[in-house]
Amino acid sequence: MTTLHVIQSKRGAPAIIVHEYMYTKCNELNTGDIIWKCPKKTCYASVKTNDRPELLESRGTHKHSPLSSSDIEKLKIDVVLKRKAIEDPTVRPNKLIRRAIAVSEVVDMRDISNFTRHIYRQRRKSQPVLPKSIEDAAQQLRIRQNEIQTFKMERFVFVHDDSSIVVL
Ligand SMILES: [Zn+2]
Repeated sequence: MTTLHVIQSKRGAPAIIVHEYMYTKCNELNTGDIIWKCPKKTCYASVKTNDRPELLESRGTHKHSPLSSSDIEKLKIDVVLKRKAIEDPTVRPNKLIRRAIAVSEVVDMRDISNFTRHIYRQRRKSQPVLPKSIEDAAQQLRIRQNEIQTFKMERFVFVHDDSSIVVL
């Protein structure tokens, strides 16, 4: 059995593609198996996989046409970009996208603006919220002071409990 790629639906839910149809994760059974359903509201097709996930069973038929190969390619590019957004947090979205789509001929301007939006959204999720006051800022620095380092791996932020901040 081949292991399926887990991707993300437009809303960020875990999803898989089986035979040109996308299914979003619906339920995890006690056995560890997973039920995935077609995200279209009027469609009741579903598949069951194990936790790898490998296809075990499919039920129902779709009442709509399958994804085109370019749709599938875009979904896969999106997953790569969301990962890169976090792995390479300082690389500009344009550059990440150019690298990811170098081999793709299916991407248009609207896709690129979607990809860009997803990169920003993914980065926002992984970063602390912007401080709203000097106390907030001190609090965030206090929590992270050991991680903030120069490129020589030296600490340079020291926050005391009374919120006085020393930046060397
Ligand atoms: Zn369907």
